[in-house]
Amino acid sequence: MPELPEVETIARTLEPAVRRRVIAGIELLYRPLLRRGGRKGLEGMKGRRVLGVNRRGKMLLIACEGGRTLVFHLKMTGQFLFAGATEPRDKHTRLVMRFEDGKNELRFRDVRKFGFLLCLEGDPMAACTELACLGPEPLDIGLAEFAAFIARRTGRIKSLLLNQTVIAGIGNIYADEMLFDARIHPEIPASSLGKKAVERLYDSMKKILTLAIAEKGSTLQDYRDAEGKAGNFQFFHKVYDRKGESCVTCGTPVRMMRIGGRSSHFCPKCQRKRAKRKR
Ligand SMILES: [Zn+2]
Repeated sequence: MPELPEVETIARTLEPAVRRRVIAGIELLYRPLLRRGGRKGLEGMKGRRVLGVNRRGKMLLIACEGGRTLVFHLKMTGQFLFAGATEPRDKHTRLVMRFEDGKNELRFRDVRKFGFLLCLEGDPMAACTELACLGPEPLDIGLAEFAAFIARRTGRIKSLLLNQTVIAGIGNIYADEMLFDARIHPEIPASSLGKKAVERLYDSMKKILTLAIAEKGSTLQDYRDAEGKAGNFQFFHKVYDRKGESCVTCGTPVRMMRIGGRSSHFCPKCQRKRAKRKR
């Protein structure tokens, strides 16, 4: 699933290709994609100029004139691509956006069909629960705020990092990578982390996400940016999807375990569980 670095990269590559262009029409090819706004809302986008493209958590926001916003969640396999109007459409194309300039059209493709679209009016952050419920952005949050919500939570740190209402945008890849970087076992209860460990995690979170954005995200299967290019950060993964391979720091085989139904990759030696029960 595209996480913060991938969605950020898509937003950055999509914006120069759509900004200032006027929407001529939006064709919805897969009805369940549209979760809010209805067909009337989509029709209301006609004639509106695109003002910019942004990201919030793992969601992508296309802001248009008249206070309208299209919000896409790419979920597992959502992709944006540009094509000429006469080019054949892939069978997984779920939506097509045409522009008045008649140049290329924007297509939303989604093989697994979990992605969704919200067509909003007014302040998008207030207009729907999907956005209103999101926690702070990991690249904006200060250390004090980060430390405060970690101290309040007794759940496992890995699950906490994945909880979008606590902190928005982090998924399985980057949670595993930042916990390895901070030398923290994924199963440790958040509230039991010491001050130093919280500071390490905070620094690792910023470092890993910044680096991943600079490398334009991770391409494991089908993630591409809006220019159709793959990311590079998969070559920097130290634990994610490396089960059984040697830890880059100590050589111990990387282990995988399920935490809250999600696979978690970690080095049992570099990321020790400190509070071991005595037998
Ligand atoms: Zn190790």
